[in-house]
Amino acid sequence: MKGLTCEISLNNVEHNLNLVKKFNDEKKVIGVIKANAYGLGLEGISDFLKDKVDYLAVAELDEAKRISQDVEVLILSPLIKEEDFLIDQDNIIFTIDNEEIIDKIPEDKELKVHIYVDTGMNRMGIKPENLDKVINKINVNRPQVLVHGIYTHLHNTKNVKYTLKQISVFKKASEKYIGKIPMIHALNSSGTINDEIRNACDFTNAVRAGNILYGYEGLDKGFKKTYNYYAEIINVCEVKAGEHVGYSCVYKAKRNMKVGVLGIGNIEHIGFSRDIKHNIFYDLVKVIYNHVKYRPIIFSKNGGIRIVSKPNMNITLVDATNLDINEKLRIEISPILAESSIPKIYKYEQ
Ligand SMILES: *Cc1c(COP(=O)(O)O)cnc(C)c1O
Repeated sequence: MKGLTCEISLNNVEHNLNLVKKFNDEKKVIGVIKANAYGLGLEGISDFLKDKVDYLAVAELDEAKRISQDVEVLILSPLIKEEDFLIDQDNIIFTIDNEEIIDKIPEDKELKVHIYVDTGMNRMGIKPENLDKVINKINVNRPQVLVHGIYTHLHNTKNVKYTLKQISVFKKASEKYIGKIPMIHALNSSGTINDEIRNACDFTNAVRAGNILYGYEGLDKGFKKTYNYYAEIINVCEVKAGEHVGYSCVYKAKRNMKVGVLGIGNIEHIGFSRDIKHNIFYDLVKVIYNHVKYRPIIFSKNGGIRIVSKPNMNITLVDATNLDINEKLRIEISPILAESSIPKIYKYEQ
């Protein structure tokens, strides 16, 4: 990409974190920064969050290695590899999500672990009825390993009834460890903002917040969007009425116009479509649909801008006739899809 940047408002991340804390007062906050901090940049986000949360959490050891060692970081389930235990970094907390792995922990290695209890996802985890056995096995076979937490994952919070059942299974298994094991947690982003689910988790003392910190959900509850992409116009072409623009002559100028060139394209998920079905009826419906329901993804300060012709791998053309060509255009892309190498600019105003 050329001239494309992602601007992240750390003030808004902070706002979202404070709101999570407000919704869940008394509970510790584990800031989830897996998957390159949901596309917003692992280093930038972790540096900002590390002294504002109790823990961070990542999905892989490689991510844990990239962040500052002065904050504790939980490696979430799914399971770790045996050699991961050899890491010489004592801010790392491992998840134990199967019984066999306990025997793989080196006998002289001091570790902090959380135990992941499966309450219905059936991907991995310790079955609730085996929790006592597993904790006992760790205490007996690996006395140098500290069981510091127990957690489960609420994977279907849209279904409150189902989730409440899940919570009650987790509660039954973990309740006896309250006060003995420091951290018991179940709530994720959507759980923290649902009153019923949150209240049912009143026996837990920590939440794991991902999405919501970045404003991917909860906008109706006062959480704020945290990122915007901006592209520069890297070239302008004067085009006369009747001339074609772009690949395959799919676009013909109806009037004299200026075409602005953006150095972004399919690779940043602009104009990327996987349509395979091609028949006339389908194409016709699509043309009508696109015409009636034109939804811009590129914006100047005055509103949506038309894409001209079709975006290709790394170039997108726009109608720049009425644009200030020095203005950066805002592009709607999801950071989850966008390439992780897009430069990030973190903004924070005191
Ligand atoms: C990703 C993840 C989270 C965070 O989920 P959000 O919905 O983004 O808050 C919490 N717990 C586990 C185990 C996860 O894998």
